[in-house]
Order: sequence, then structure tokens, then C-alpha cells
Amino acid sequence: MDFFEKAYAIEQDNRDELKHFRKQFAIDDPNLIYLDGNSLGMLPKATPERIQKVIHNEWGRKLIRSWNEGWYERSQEIAAKLAPLIGAKPHEVIMADSTSVNLFKLAYAVLHLQTGKKAIVSDELNFPSDIYLLQGLVKLFGDKHELRLARSHNNMGVSKNEIVEKLKDDTALLTLSHVAFKSSFMYDMKEITDLAHEKGAMVLWDLSHSAGAVPVKLNECNVDLAIGCTYKYLNGGPGSIAFLYVREDLQEKLVSPIWGWFGQKDPFNFRLDYEPADGIQRFLAGTPPVLSLSAIEPSLDLMNEAGIDNLRDKSLTQSRYLIELCKHFLEPLGFSLGSPVKDRERGSHVSIRHPEAYRICQALIDPKTGGKSVIPDFREPDNIRLGITPIYTSYMDIYEAVMQIKTIAEQKLYNRFSLQKGRVT
Ligand SMILES: *Cc1c(COP(=O)(O)O)cnc(C)c1O
Repeated sequence: MDFFEKAYAIEQDNRDELKHFRKQFAIDDPNLIYLDGNSLGMLPKATPERIQKVIHNEWGRKLIRSWNEGWYERSQEIAAKLAPLIGAKPHEVIMADSTSVNLFKLAYAVLHLQTGKKAIVSDELNFPSDIYLLQGLVKLFGDKHELRLARSHNNMGVSKNEIVEKLKDDTALLTLSHVAFKSSFMYDMKEITDLAHEKGAMVLWDLSHSAGAVPVKLNECNVDLAIGCTYKYLNGGPGSIAFLYVREDLQEKLVSPIWGWFGQKDPFNFRLDYEPADGIQRFLAGTPPVLSLSAIEPSLDLMNEAGIDNLRDKSLTQSRYLIELCKHFLEPLGFSLGSPVKDRERGSHVSIRHPEAYRICQALIDPKTGGKSVIPDFREPDNIRLGITPIYTSYMDIYEAVMQIKTIAEQKLYNRFSLQKGRVT
């Protein structure tokens, strides 16, 4: 059978051992292909019912009694279901705040501990919010730290040597995105963590683009700290609560800069002196958003059932397939690959580049273009990100999306779209 024909995609879907999981998601528009699960994951069918229960039974009927019947422990319980996906012990993870706020809390705690060291290292491929937070921290600590960003030799990935150049004995903190949001480049977590430890630096990984897509081994790699969001591959819903991880032995050494009552040793004794809770609880600030927290559980149950290693295997087979289709059908039309070709250097999305990327994205999304509506996303200056979410993406999704991109580029169907960009791309 010809690899480049539709029949191949159909056959792969038939053989896919995870294919039944797709039915667990709300996919009710047969003319929609969703390839943006790396920005906002789809809705699991079980989630609305779960939230309804929390609203009607727990909030509606039991009212405030629910705090003693499950709400208080919920952050910890949800975190325990996330822990196996990121290779951590349950008591090393907690659901809290947003990814940005968690970065702030943990990076602050490190700078406060590592008083003799005056450098922070990251890279220029990192998510801008992470960099802004580091810039803000430098100001907050009185402009005494130097923020050094490792450069990328090819605008796609950062080599080990490019990190080594920036890591010196003065480094308090190395913080990186495990998978880069634009190119999907993925670091070797163990190798980079070891390098930083050799220099006495602590390491904080942002797992926003890897949690739920790539098996992360925080304990095995001896990682100090990690953060990440739950609305991407973890399908927790828009703005769902984020997570943070602090290695067991560091929990007593680090103190959150936000001394809220949920991080206090015994919040309900209402003492006026703050004493941080033992363990991971101390990184909480205030009351958790119970509705949003509960919404994450159905997806985590599906992820654990599917198994993160199986999800990764499927993601890799699918991204290799996508890359081959792009080479065959799209490179002749002026596209180039914006993601690493080596499996071990790539997360779960594939970026393709084209000078007209923005308008091609508009044409893909607009149902008036003809064919199915395809939702990827656009990242400056010329990236179309095609997100593979192995728990629900099919081979046909990938095949049809590539065919649609081909048609749009060949016939220049993007010409009728404006170059003016919307607020959210
Ligand atoms: C998505 C993402 C975030 C999001 O942060 P929020 O606080 O949820 O807005 C942070 N870092 C990275 C690397 C991301 O990909």
C-alpha cells in the first residue's frame, strides 16, 4: 500500500490500539479537524457530568460541609493522579495557581536559598511569560542577578554546549521549557539537569508542553523543581489550575514568597504568625478553584488508563507520519520543517514554516475555504503548529489536514484573508 495515500491513514487508524479513547472526547462536528490540543485540549465527555455533580451535590446540597468531605484534599488528590505521568511521587506534586505564578514562587524560593549565586540561566526559545517573570524577579531582588539566555544555533533547538557556555559556578537557577513551544524541540532532561547540578545550580523545568504528551521522569532525572499547565495535553479546560513539583528533600528548604493561609501549617487555627506547612502544601497560597480543579480528573483518568508510554509511542508514529507527508506534499510548495527530525529531540507537535503561514492558518480554519475546517495555530513569524494529541488525534486527521494545507497553498486560497492579526493567534 502506498504510504502517501488515504488508504494508509485508514489502515493505521484501524490498527491503532488507542483508537477507542477518541470516543471519550466531545468530537461532534464531522467537518472539523482539531490540531491544537497543544494549546487547549479537547473536552472529555465525562467532564461536564463531573462538574455538574460538584455543582449540584457538593456545592448545591452539601454547601460548606464539602470542605470537610473532599474539597480540602482535592488539590492533593488530583496531583496524585498527575504524578505518574511526570515520574514523581504523589506527595511531591500539588495543583496550584497558574503556571506563571508557580514559576514565580519556585524561582523566588531558589534565589532566596542560593544567596551566594547571582546568575539565572534560561534560553531564547523559552515561553516569553517565563522570561518576563525572571526579568521581574531580577528587579525584585534589587538588580543583583544576571539573566543569561542560551542562544539557539538554528532557531529550532539549543545544544548542550550552548547551555554549558552560560552555566557557570555563579548560577543559582537554570530554568527551561522541556519542550519548546514554537519548534517542539525537546531537551535531554537528565543530561541538562546533571550539568546544572555539577555547577551547583538548581533546575526548574516547565513541563507545559510535555505533561501528558511525553513521559517525563522527574525522579529518575533527579530534577529539583517543575511546573506546568493542565489545559494543554492534560485537557483540564480553559485556564485550569496548574501544577508544581518540588523534590521531596527540598521541600523543607524552600519557602514560597506568597505566605497565604493554605500554605500555613494549620490554616484553621487562625494564628497570626505564619509557619509554613510541612511538605508540598507549603507552596499553596489561597483557596483552590474547586470547580476547575475537579474538571481535570476525568482527563487524568483517561491518560492513566491509556498509559503515557503508549501515548508517546503513538505520538511519535504520528509525528513521523506527518513529517513524511510534509516532505512529500508540502516542501515542494515552499514549506519547511520547523521541528527537529530526531524523535528524541521532538515533543508532540510539529511546526511547519511558510512565509504566508498566518493567512494559510486563517484559510485552514475558515469553513468557507471548502473541505474540512482545520484548526492549528500560528506562532510568529511563520510557524504553523500542528498539535498531535495522541489520545484523540487520528491518522486521518493528519492526512486530511496536510491535503487541505496543500490545496490552500497550491491554489493560493489564503489570498482573500487579511494580514491583520487577531488578539489571540
Ligand atoms: C502554556 C505555557 C505557559 C502558560 O502559563 P499560564 O500562567 O497558564 O498562562 C507557561 N509556560 C509555558 C512554557 C507554556 O507553554
